[in-house]
Amino acid sequence: MDNKERIIKYYNDLDRSCFMDEYKEQSHMDNPFPIGFGQTISQPSLVLKMTILLDLDKNSKVLEIGTGSGYQTALLSKASKIVYTVERIEELHIRSKERLTRLGYTNIKYKLGDGSSGWKENAPYDRIMVTASASKLPNNLVEQLAPNGKMVIPVGTDLILMTKTNGEIKKEVITKVIFVSLVGDY
Ligand code: SAH
Repeated sequence: MDNKERIIKYYNDLDRSCFMDEYKEQSHMDNPFPIGFGQTISQPSLVLKMTILLDLDKNSKVLEIGTGSGYQTALLSKASKIVYTVERIEELHIRSKERLTRLGYTNIKYKLGDGSSGWKENAPYDRIMVTASASKLPNNLVEQLAPNGKMVIPVGTDLILMTKTNGEIKKEVITKVIFVSLVGDY
């Protein structure tokens, strides 16, 4: 199986209802749903699309900004070596950490705080996934990306795939998306 096929398999095996408290009975629908605090669990097809774009393998060290429900985190965890995830809302941080631990995910490190400045102590990262919409590309995240790294990030309503090749930065607009806002200092 190649990286894409593996990600599709993990996605199909993942039960989204495990990451929802309300709206559980609608978890099969391809929609975002509220998870409290004005935030949402992302639309499954978009989670899959963004994860495939990131082109993860079992050696990837990944930074995720916006843990939210932990649904995207779970898929990243399955497809990579280690995931560092940052969430700024304490209740969501605690809830997703408990949930993912209970479900048996062991290769995830959790941080409460402003992820727009990244997680410097563990940088660089092979891959960065941002699940909230930034108004511009956060410099700190670009800096914490490894040479030959990739980042998927919504900027405004553009879903951007950013690739670093020998220090050179390439940006591709993939599609239009709507995400909750990335709140932070960047
Ligand atoms: N992938 C998640 C998406 C959650 S919505 C899921 O499917 O459940 C986006 C999340 O990003 C929210 O939980 C929000 O609180 C968080 N967020 C927004 N700005 C942030 C920031 N600067 N640092 C960390 N998390 C942030």
